[in-house]
Amino acid sequence: MYVPQTDDLRQTLADVAGLDELLAAGVFPDLTADVVDAVLAEAGRFAAEVLAPLNREGDRHGCRLDAATHAVTTAPGWRKAYRAWSEAGWAALPCPAEYGGQGLPILVGLAVQELWNTAASAFGIGTLLTQGATEAIAAHGSEALRRAYLPHMVSGRWTGTMNLTEPQAGSDLAGIRTRAERAGDGSYRLSGTKIFITYGEHDLTDNIVHLVLARLPDAPPGTRGLSLFLVPKFLPDERGEPLRRNDLKCIGLEEKLGIHGSPTCTLRFGDEEGAVGFLVGEENRGLACMFTMMNNARLHVGMQGVAVAERATQQARAFSRERRQGRIGDEVVAIVRHPDVQRMLADMEVRTQAARAICFATARALDLSRHGRSAEERQAEGSLAALLTPVAKAFGTDTGSEVASLGVQVHGGMGYIEETGAAQHLRDARICQIYEGTNGIQAIDLVTRKLTLEGGRTFARWTEGVRRTVACLEAHGETKEVAGEISCALAGLETATDRLTGWLASHDERALAGATPYLRLFGLVAGAEGLARGALAALARNEPAAGDRRLWRARYFARNHLPLASGLVAVVTEGGDTLAEGAPLLVGA
Ligand SMILES: Cc1cc2nc3c(=O)[nH]c(=O)nc-3n(C[C@H](O)[C@H](O)[C@H](O)COP(=O)(O)OP(=O)(O)OC[C@H]3O[C@@H](n4cnc5c(N)ncnc54)[C@H](O)[C@@H]3O)c2cc1C
Repeated sequence: MYVPQTDDLRQTLADVAGLDELLAAGVFPDLTADVVDAVLAEAGRFAAEVLAPLNREGDRHGCRLDAATHAVTTAPGWRKAYRAWSEAGWAALPCPAEYGGQGLPILVGLAVQELWNTAASAFGIGTLLTQGATEAIAAHGSEALRRAYLPHMVSGRWTGTMNLTEPQAGSDLAGIRTRAERAGDGSYRLSGTKIFITYGEHDLTDNIVHLVLARLPDAPPGTRGLSLFLVPKFLPDERGEPLRRNDLKCIGLEEKLGIHGSPTCTLRFGDEEGAVGFLVGEENRGLACMFTMMNNARLHVGMQGVAVAERATQQARAFSRERRQGRIGDEVVAIVRHPDVQRMLADMEVRTQAARAICFATARALDLSRHGRSAEERQAEGSLAALLTPVAKAFGTDTGSEVASLGVQVHGGMGYIEETGAAQHLRDARICQIYEGTNGIQAIDLVTRKLTLEGGRTFARWTEGVRRTVACLEAHGETKEVAGEISCALAGLETATDRLTGWLASHDERALAGATPYLRLFGLVAGAEGLARGALAALARNEPAAGDRRLWRARYFARNHLPLASGLVAVVTEGGDTLAEGAPLLVGA
């Protein structure tokens, strides 16, 4: 049973991301609050009625590869659902209007994507990648490529993929070996093998548009020698009809822990004459272009973690009210009556809300980096989005896994049995911490590239924003203690930041050793601030019923999660020494 979380999403959009204020200020001139409400309501209905019932079937059945034809078949019902999804116009929602899209803000697109991913994350990930590919082509593709491909991707007629990974090139893309040769007519011929390509082959659409990182023969070594190519499964004519099968095929499908409904493919390019590819952006500038897609995908994968956490939380809550075990007095009670179960449910709910708040704060910054009033505002918001993206990705996806694990625990033994579905959420959530850059890589990105943005001014501006929220919290009796906890955790974060940036400047490896606990610390403060904004909005509107829950979430998080901040500060600032001591033991002879 899945109930679309449209109310929570709407509140987060209003309270954390300030969407209604942005609408009132005319930042999105063609959008009204009524339209946002209608989009969320309709997406929620589609997610619950069409996608959610597919979740178990996708998990049980998975995808099949026909080794003779290289064709991949998705689980029963998926093709029909995809048709209904694209015919309803959902693919177009966040896409540019000039290619047939609806041009809605990233904030609204993210909320809708959360609904798809809560209903069936193995379905959601495919739509999310197409959206990222669309964005990369719109930003960097030539006019001809944009005209030929984007309308079909925006309509949902074709899907898109991201082809980075090779057996020897995972986190480190410098090792990419896929080759691209100039064909002399402006196009290129690609050859090589890509692994782990999500929706690299499937039966949902007639064509698939692959964005492939490859290396030209005369390219410089490392990531500075990577170029980005658009490589369609079928080369289309000017109406988009398939003209010719391109020289690429799926030669393997991974058996994996979760998201069984999503085909994870090994793709071979160029076994014969070479796969025809078209340059996106400039030669040897491919990684920068791919980052348009990867940044979008990182935020959305963070949200995917939140989405699975939401689903696990809903399921655990319902189970805890039905399962009777243990007594209070003479009465055999539902397990939800036991404080330890209540603690698990509370942790699940507030962690999910906190991580959602971080994702939406990031989306707001991304929207304002495009639609802000002045160049200065757009630049500042772009830097803020860059700072928050690794936190949204890693904190969101850690939340997905940890909340889904708690969901199994709430179910007891039944959680470990596939029948309840609680185990599927845990299996599905786990990949989010790995793909789109592992969470370890996100933490290193935060510490080495993002804290130093604008010489540290981006981080300083963000902390000023947290302090403004704290000042508002201090003005209300109900939130004074939350203010105290956030202030304390923020001071700890600043201490840890100073230490890490100092180590970074002197090339001390302790900066890298402390990155993961530092990101968790950052996420705690950012999540607490997001929940605090919700509480403040409820107090401002004087809404006792809804307000009570939002106030409680902020207070619970402040009392039960923020105290962990001081421990994390100690790990960041002092833990690296003993790690270094153990390094020879760990590395081995
Ligand atoms: C189901 C699934 C779907 C995927 N979909 C796609 C897709 O659509 N397109 C695509 O291109 N790829 C895809 N991937 C690949 C995915 O992005 C990579 O698996 C991921 O980036 C990690 O690379 P790797 O597996 O080679 O791990 P490795 O890079 O070998 O990393 C192993 C461990 O070492 C750590 N590590 C590595 N380098 C460093 C470093 N410098 N500093 C600190 N720690 C480090 C990592 O954090 C990790 O914990 C998918 C993978 C899976 C499993």
